[in-house]
Amino acid sequence: MNGLCDDIRTSFRGQLLYGEPLSRHTSLKVGGPADIFAVPEDVDDLRNLLQLLKADGTPWLIIGGGYNLLVRDGGFRGAVITLKKLDRIENHNGLLYAESGVSNQALAIFARDNGLAGLEFLVGIPGSLGGALCMNAGAHGGETFDRVSSVDILNCGIREKCEKMSLNYGYRRLQLGDNKIIISAEFSCLQDGREAITARMDDCLRRRRESQKVALPNAGSFFKNPAGQMVWRLIDEAGLRGCSVGGAQVSEVHTNFLVNRGGATAADFLELAALIKKRVLEKSGLLLEEEVRIVGDDRY
Ligand SMILES: Cc1cc2nc3c(=O)[nH]c(=O)nc-3n(C[C@H](O)[C@H](O)[C@H](O)COP(=O)(O)OP(=O)(O)OC[C@H]3O[C@@H](n4cnc5c(N)ncnc54)[C@H](O)[C@@H]3O)c2cc1C
Repeated sequence: MNGLCDDIRTSFRGQLLYGEPLSRHTSLKVGGPADIFAVPEDVDDLRNLLQLLKADGTPWLIIGGGYNLLVRDGGFRGAVITLKKLDRIENHNGLLYAESGVSNQALAIFARDNGLAGLEFLVGIPGSLGGALCMNAGAHGGETFDRVSSVDILNCGIREKCEKMSLNYGYRRLQLGDNKIIISAEFSCLQDGREAITARMDDCLRRRRESQKVALPNAGSFFKNPAGQMVWRLIDEAGLRGCSVGGAQVSEVHTNFLVNRGGATAADFLELAALIKKRVLEKSGLLLEEEVRIVGDDRY
């Protein structure tokens, strides 16, 4: 690792932090340290970093805004990389190009300002485009992949343009494959007036304000809805509203939101999630699947 750090210091142009607590980069505010935390300046800088990590045998993990992540208390042995500097958005005659570090909100606003419709629902979903594509994030009847036409993926240092048809995606998932990184995406949007788009965005934000008044740190919906069921109802029917383990609690406001009511550890969230799965299985016969991605050193 020492030799690696010297190599990175010499040739990497972006920001580098060592032993960086990942609780600073996740909306749940839990997670131990990453050995290396890197913010590449651009795609070439990312490529160079990946080469150095590969030569050293050091594992790496890409994160976006950390709004859908539960990082274990052991942190991450290796390099955590965030692409927030990849933040270009362009309108190519109605074909919208955006890099993966662009925030969902910025993308929705850019689309509106260019009279491009179909991305309004993204305005209230926290996080980056990379995370939204990886999760096929959605709300109010829309999903990220609805208007995607292609996604650029970095695969072993080679940038490949993948047409939407070739990608395996579904409800809150994209089957990306190991060691692949989303660099950008193109969206084919519909033309519409700015006022009509603004009205739909405002409606999305209003509905969110009404249904998700959760003030404490959270990661949005913790579990996926089983087919034809609302998971918040299943958790409620299992009598778990307000239930807590350490500092982790089932929100009193929205039972599919697990909140950090202060001082929670990742272990608290993992234990609470296991309890919820057990109780819902007993009560409803359904095995819940986490929507939140659980990553990091599993010795803790
Ligand atoms: C208050 C709140 C409300 C929310 N509401 C919604 C909602 O309405 N709908 C919804 O779908 N989600 C919702 N979420 C969850 C979250 O906002 C989304 O899942 C979002 O898309 C996560 O983006 P992110 O950039 O934070 O990704 P992260 O959480 O950082 O990462 C998510 C996954 O994507 C991977 N990833 C990120 N970027 C890349 C990349 N460039 N290449 C490869 N892999 C990558 C990570 O490794 C990880 O596996 C909500 C969360 C909160 C806190």
